Amino acid sequence: MKRLFAAVAAATVLFANAQGFPGSKPITIVVPFAAGGPTDLVARQLAETMRKTMGGGANFLVENAVGAGGTIGATKVARAAPDGHTLLLFHIGMAATPALYKKIAYKPLEDFEFLGMINEVPMTLVGKPQLPANTYRDFENYIKTNAGKLNIAHAGLGSASHLCSLMWQSAVKANEAMTTIPYGGTGPAMQALVGGQVDLMCDQTTNTVQQIQAGRVKAFAVTTAKPLSKHPLLKDYPTLQEMGLKGFELTVWHGMYAPKGTPPAVLKQLNEAMKLALKDPDFIKKQDALGAIVVTDARVDPAAHKAFVAAEIAKLKPLIEAAKQFAD
Ligand code: ASP
Repeated sequence: MKRLFAAVAAATVLFANAQGFPGSKPITIVVPFAAGGPTDLVARQLAETMRKTMGGGANFLVENAVGAGGTIGATKVARAAPDGHTLLLFHIGMAATPALYKKIAYKPLEDFEFLGMINEVPMTLVGKPQLPANTYRDFENYIKTNAGKLNIAHAGLGSASHLCSLMWQSAVKANEAMTTIPYGGTGPAMQALVGGQVDLMCDQTTNTVQQIQAGRVKAFAVTTAKPLSKHPLLKDYPTLQEMGLKGFELTVWHGMYAPKGTPPAVLKQLNEAMKLALKDPDFIKKQDALGAIVVTDARVDPAAHKAFVAAEIAKLKPLIEAAKQFAD
């Protein structure tokens, strides 16, 4: 009963917020990476859930505006009409790209309205199925003996997979052993890995769990500080810290943003709908199965998320500068 009251109260807040929004015009969530990848997956699951939490009438579209590690899609949204009908779903790249590009066409902290954080997702270091190595140690030796012959896929300069490969290559001093191959997203990069056209990738678990489970790729390690002991599959893989890479930790997060100047009532309505969506048991279950942790209300908060992104920009800058000396 209590729950019912809460739901009715939340719905009332939604309708009281922005009159006429969204109306019949769809809300487009711009994903700055290719379809079929992990950011795309979060956006599609969230869009489906927000359609329900916006009261059923809202129509959502997902648009993949691909390229330059997410910065093309982010630029598109920064320049879109600030009416709530164009949103950006981006990840840690929102904070990493300022340190990875000499110039980007938007200022992450100034050119967007922050709607809130969505989830946190560990990464996994995975290899093509034909690799002879089965453990991280074998894999390390394999890299050493195959210096200059291997390639590692990523989703473009500034993407999470690029950031991970940069940090990992620099930590193991494997830069000379690898050529980096950029894709428009790790959806297509994963297909290349499964097909054996590339050797390695570091990507979100939301893209790797099913492939590892099916034996289509080999996993060697996870990037979190602590082992993923609660996940039925990922618990079996060591952290990079356990493998001797001191202090290595990388967790991808996703957040939602609107163009600067979007009316406060529209932002409030979208934020409330997001909060409800992130409590949806089906959404949580799907994310959980893929190793992602959906955040709670305190982080689905515009001010808290903005402060978090500012802190991430400050944290990543020196890490990226240091890693860039060893890898590209
Ligand atoms: N996982 C990708 C990245 O490396 C992006 C994507 O395709 O979702 O940033």
